[in-house]
Amino acid sequence: MPYSSIDREKKILELLQTQGSASIQELAEAFGVSNMTVHRDLNKLEQSGQIQKKHGGVTLAEKPSSVVGEYTCVMCNKPVSERTVFIVQLESGEQKRACCAHCGLMIQSQTKDAWQSLAVDYLHGHMVSANQAIYLIGSELSICCVPSVLSFGAQKEAEKFKKGFGGDLFTMEEAIVHLHGMMHAQKQGA
Ligand SMILES: [Zn+2]
Ligand SMILES: [Zn+2]
Repeated sequence: MPYSSIDREKKILELLQTQGSASIQELAEAFGVSNMTVHRDLNKLEQSGQIQKKHGGVTLAEKPSSVVGEYTCVMCNKPVSERTVFIVQLESGEQKRACCAHCGLMIQSQTKDAWQSLAVDYLHGHMVSANQAIYLIGSELSICCVPSVLSFGAQKEAEKFKKGFGGDLFTMEEAIVHLHGMMHAQKQGA
């Protein structure tokens, strides 16, 4: 089955999230395309700061250094820190950056043409697929916006944080619904 380049980019990121790294040869075989095609996909992902190439292979970028820095959150205008950034990528290639998962999920819920979103794993500091991340909402750890939203790549680690710091765990879709509910309740109570 032929993949479009956008599909391949998504699959590459998914693969790297599950197995950590991959060789170009491996990716070319997985998609049934030439090494050159894989190179091109990887160049794009590397330019957007999502992956790092090493020794004929590729890993997820440890720090999204080339995609953050002078940016401010499109929701609340706070400066965006690479430790908590949340990126919503649109089908057009444009990226919306949020200061943290709290604003990120708000952007996500308002964006109809999002094709991929990335959150930072709070424990390890690397980027994970926002759709697959686990969100801890309302814990004692206040990292940025209130209620605080932490994102984790692994359910087990998220559960440990929940034990230590309270809050509740959600999938991305649940987290969006929950956040909207909390914000609404706050407005009503004030
Ligand atoms: Zn924000
Ligand atoms: Zn924030």
